[in-house]
Amino acid sequence: MLRLALAGLVAAAAAGAQPVVVGHSVKGRAIVAYERGDPSAPTTLVIGVIHGSEPAGLAVIRRLRTMPLPAGVHLWLVPTVNPDGLAAGTRQNAHGVDLNRNWPVDWKHNGVPWDGYYSGPRPMSEPENRAMRAFILRVKPALTIWYHQPLDVVYGSDPHVAVLKRYARLTGLPYRRLVAPPGAATRWERKRLPHGVHFVVEFPAGRISTETARRHADAVLALAKGLG
Ligand SMILES: [Zn+2]
Repeated sequence: MLRLALAGLVAAAAAGAQPVVVGHSVKGRAIVAYERGDPSAPTTLVIGVIHGSEPAGLAVIRRLRTMPLPAGVHLWLVPTVNPDGLAAGTRQNAHGVDLNRNWPVDWKHNGVPWDGYYSGPRPMSEPENRAMRAFILRVKPALTIWYHQPLDVVYGSDPHVAVLKRYARLTGLPYRRLVAPPGAATRWERKRLPHGVHFVVEFPAGRISTETARRHADAVLALAKGLG
């Protein structure tokens, strides 16, 4: 019986059913990640939510957690790096900081707590971002996708623009060559992991349909497979 139970646990871990705790939020909520696929393949990291009031990406993460994966794909899935903001329905974390203005590349002091784009008092002042920085440096993604709302575009001025355009084509979103704002997570990733492709996908406002979530999950897998 014990052997069977252990075998079940190992199988569950291999299927990515076990969450890995990446760190904790200001209020002590766990930031969790799920690993799926072939760990020897290049890593694709997908973040469902960084701004708590922009939860559409969760539907894509849910699909990616359960759908069959093609060979040669290695996923790390983080439903949210901002669990306090997601629970409260706020863009910011529980300190009133915009976590996507708090990363230490081109950081600029901006605003006061609970302003839309409050940078925090200093770069990496927030525990959520410190946890994610350590996690990203550990898993070294070759591809990172951060979901946002409500601009309805794929954007970045990433040197790997062809990949961004491919994602846009696969999902039907327009691509725009916008520069990420100061202190954005993708700016830091491009500096620290310059060979990787790191970009933002903005859904429109509101809920996304099952069909949209499916198309985006398929696009993630198409890009992930192309890394191998
Ligand atoms: Zn956002």
